[in-house]
Amino acid sequence: MTDQTTADTAAASDTTSADRPLRVAIMGAGPAGIYAADALMKSGENVSIDLFERMPAPFGLIRYGVAPDHPRIKGIVTALHKVLDKPQVRLLGNIDYGTDITLDDLRRFYDAVIFSTGANADRALKIPGIDLDGSYGAADFVSWYDGHPDVPRTWPLDAEKVAVLGVGNVALDVARVLAKTGDELLPTEIPANVYEGLKANKALEVHVFGRRGPAQAKFTPLELRELDHSPNIEVIVDPEDIDYDAASEDARRNSKQVDMVANTLQDWAIRDVGERPHKLFLHFFESPHEVLGDDGKVVGLRTERTQLDGTGNVKGTGKFNDWDVQAVYRAVGYLSQNISKLPFDDQAGVVPNEAGRVVADDTAEGKARFMPATYVTGWIKRGPVGLIGHTKGDANETVANLLEDRPAFAQPEDAREDAIIEFLEEKNHPYTTWQGWYRLDAHERALGEPEGRERVKVVERHDMLKASEPDKA
Ligand SMILES: Cc1cc2nc3c(=O)[nH]c(=O)nc-3n(C[C@H](O)[C@H](O)[C@H](O)COP(=O)(O)OP(=O)(O)OC[C@H]3O[C@@H](n4cnc5c(N)ncnc54)[C@H](O)[C@@H]3O)c2cc1C
Repeated sequence: MTDQTTADTAAASDTTSADRPLRVAIMGAGPAGIYAADALMKSGENVSIDLFERMPAPFGLIRYGVAPDHPRIKGIVTALHKVLDKPQVRLLGNIDYGTDITLDDLRRFYDAVIFSTGANADRALKIPGIDLDGSYGAADFVSWYDGHPDVPRTWPLDAEKVAVLGVGNVALDVARVLAKTGDELLPTEIPANVYEGLKANKALEVHVFGRRGPAQAKFTPLELRELDHSPNIEVIVDPEDIDYDAASEDARRNSKQVDMVANTLQDWAIRDVGERPHKLFLHFFESPHEVLGDDGKVVGLRTERTQLDGTGNVKGTGKFNDWDVQAVYRAVGYLSQNISKLPFDDQAGVVPNEAGRVVADDTAEGKARFMPATYVTGWIKRGPVGLIGHTKGDANETVANLLEDRPAFAQPEDAREDAIIEFLEEKNHPYTTWQGWYRLDAHERALGEPEGRERVKVVERHDMLKASEPDKA
């Protein structure tokens, strides 16, 4: 593919000139990477940015995490388009850092590298039975319903009663998608295989479990209230589960968001249960203790009843409840992956950093504290929490530090903008571009048009690559 936008090749080819553009590689074209490109361009410095992405399409978890029935959030890509439309930034997709390109390669072509590789795996939950057949990580299910090319095309949805562990927005997404009907989700961008799978979904009851109480739930008010908007979902809260200690009351007083969530849950706890066909129970003070199995398959969930200890935390009561469910989804947090040649904090799931500067592995006396010209931003910088908008502040901080460090950067071997293109062409590695995204985008919209849908997502990687190529969409 040769339709690269070259900003100012002539200036960049002068590798020794002090006034050539600052060449920056950003690894990962999710919101954090795109906001970092934006911050670099807005700095007023002469910059030339290559935004690398392992998927053939950009936008990270906006495309492969945000639920399909959240078109308003997915619409954030419109704002991100404006960043990628700028001539100082090129998208180079379908390139996996660590496999298709290494840190040494990047050092040859760029003054600095920013890693914004996000998070795409499930945090482990260490309870007996978690590996049984029918026990799933939320991230895998999300990847399936969001049409990620690297997960299987089918998903077993034969359980009538399902447990979802966790009380954050991802748990809500998973519970809502499980409780809605396939037809309710059809107007969204879900691909055909996902629609077929959801249409065959047998779930009638979805039980969401939180260890702590309503004041400790991590839901955002809007996402919580949205559960109740489906004509097919009856949201049920047990009045026994509404309880607050002094710390919970403080939390409600100090945070409007906490108070709104608690009020919504209270309202639901005191109303009559209606007739909508799918029941979605929100349980509190139930700590997952064991996934129960028979013949290797999930047949239930055992929880321990907990109670508040006065500090907003909970302690076990020794009273156990068994729930008749045939599938368990754990939505207990996302986890970032180790990045080749970078230090990694396995516990926190982040690259150790100070305000975006990557802390070197060996920080013994006399050694540099930071890896040279190496930065992180977004979820890989501070862990997998927070909304898309939060990655903007991350990016501003990281970029400010990168620019401050600029005088100390080593001169790359070949800072020409074409050098990386020659490198990729030499390897004969198929990569996608921003123009390619416009083609794929148009192709997906065209697929949706006959059915009056905004788009239908293309799933297979080779189909995405094909649709991204000139004149083949
Ligand atoms: C299920 C789910 C639902 C969410 N819903 C919402 C919502 O409704 N509203 C909201 O505001 N926020 C939502 N979020 C949060 C939001 O998605 C994150 O805040 C945001 O995506 C984090 O941005 P990021 O760029 O750090 O990571 P990511 O979005 O994960 O982007 C990282 C990018 O790096 C790429 N990458 C990874 N490894 C490599 C590699 N080795 N080489 C090249 N590229 C690589 C990935 O493919 C990805 O494109 C949701 C998150 C999840 C998990």
